[in-house]
Amino acid sequence: MKWKKQILPLRAYQPGKSIESVKKQYHLEEIIKLASNENPYGYSPSVDQALLNGDSSYTFYPDGSAANLKTTLASHLHVEENQLLITNGTDELIQIISRAMLEPGKNTVMAACTFPQYKHAAIIEGAEVREVELVNGFHDLNTMLTKMDDQTAIVWLCNPNNPTGTYIPEEEIRRFLIQVPSDVLVVLDEAYQEYVTESSNSLSLTQQFSNLIIMRTFSKIYGLASFRIGYGISTSTTIQCLEPVRLPFNTNVLGQLAATTALSDQDFVQSCRAHNTAELQQYYGFCEEHSLPYFPSQGNFILINVKRDADEVAEYLLTKGLIVRSGKSLGFPTSVRITIGKKEQNEKVRNALQELITEKVRP
Ligand SMILES: *Cc1c(COP(=O)(O)O)cnc(C)c1O
Repeated sequence: MKWKKQILPLRAYQPGKSIESVKKQYHLEEIIKLASNENPYGYSPSVDQALLNGDSSYTFYPDGSAANLKTTLASHLHVEENQLLITNGTDELIQIISRAMLEPGKNTVMAACTFPQYKHAAIIEGAEVREVELVNGFHDLNTMLTKMDDQTAIVWLCNPNNPTGTYIPEEEIRRFLIQVPSDVLVVLDEAYQEYVTESSNSLSLTQQFSNLIIMRTFSKIYGLASFRIGYGISTSTTIQCLEPVRLPFNTNVLGQLAATTALSDQDFVQSCRAHNTAELQQYYGFCEEHSLPYFPSQGNFILINVKRDADEVAEYLLTKGLIVRSGKSLGFPTSVRITIGKKEQNEKVRNALQELITEKVRP
């Protein structure tokens, strides 16, 4: 058959191991999943109530424009509704942007290593992918600028970067945007924005730079990954161009209701951020005590160089019922990426790592 030739080597997304599969395989009762940067505190309790009280008109198509959510979100962010695009997770927004702009002959610039979906989507569209190595875990913005030419359509910045957790300060992004040609779309992926403790006001950049789109999600701090709601913030002109590229009913009625409700509980968000910041400090202390290199993180995860084969370390942690992400497939073969869990969960991870590091056990 006449497949696009570039899709043949692609593999389906490899999700973190599921709790059920690890339970079965290792005959364990308790499993702690810290592999996909989900929120260990779950989601706002108000969401369950809203879902119970919602009218269940499931027979009808949902509101494809997600009007209620858009209104609530616009007022929360202090932007106009026509500056928002609601999508089936940020993953769909990445796909929509790529479909709208990329094709053979065009290219796109991104860091290596970063969130893998940018590259994946670009390959499917047949565009050239220009990757720029991170420097000490950070985006190398100057080299990224030199990789752009007339055929460059999109530049991706992941901030904080997954998997390193490193953060580009707003001033550096501003300096970068000033130098990017105004017909190149800059995508700023802020999936972890609500965890960031460094000062940042990236939304103000959308007023100054019409070629910027910010991506955010309800999957991370809002704890609603299963509902698949993400969104883009840009100029109304850019949103207008992207709207026809999304599926007509890309988000469903339950997801829209859950996200709208979650947005009104900012106390929950603040509390999760505070716990996360405190727990990150515990990891920093542990890494320093054991001389393990790590990147200070502005997300809800930390990439630790365990100085051993990452797959073996992840496998060892699995036998203890701890699911983390091996850095091997993320471009860091001796590191593990650990989602910041609750206090007791993090202590279990550190105890298990300590056993490895002090050579009490071999992976
Ligand atoms: C988790 C994540 C996403 C995907 O989020 P969804 O909204 O669940 O699709 C996007 N970008 C980064 C950097 C992420 O870590």
